[in-house]
Amino acid sequence: MTSWYPLQFFLSTEGVCEVEADSNNYQNLRCTCKSFRATKRCKHTRFISKKIDDNDGKFAIAVNADDVSDQDIEVAMTSAETLRDFLLHKSKIEFIK
Ligand SMILES: [Zn+2]
Repeated sequence: MTSWYPLQFFLSTEGVCEVEADSNNYQNLRCTCKSFRATKRCKHTRFISKKIDDNDGKFAIAVNADDVSDQDIEVAMTSAETLRDFLLHKSKIEFIK
């Protein structure tokens, strides 16, 4: 079964959009923005793909480290919903022009 995990939120001119990865294949990304829905590609998924490539195939979540404990991360990783909640509150929301 495929499930999707949130990786990063972005601010865009349409509001907030979210890039998610397929739990079976982290290179398989999707985004909630208009451009992705229309064309299956967008600047947000490109941004994340590049970050994964630059980091040897792994995605590093940009968190506010001072504010995050090991326990926070453990709880966040238990499901897509808790991870999403964690990202919204503790991670850096990017803006791409
Ligand atoms: Zn997008």
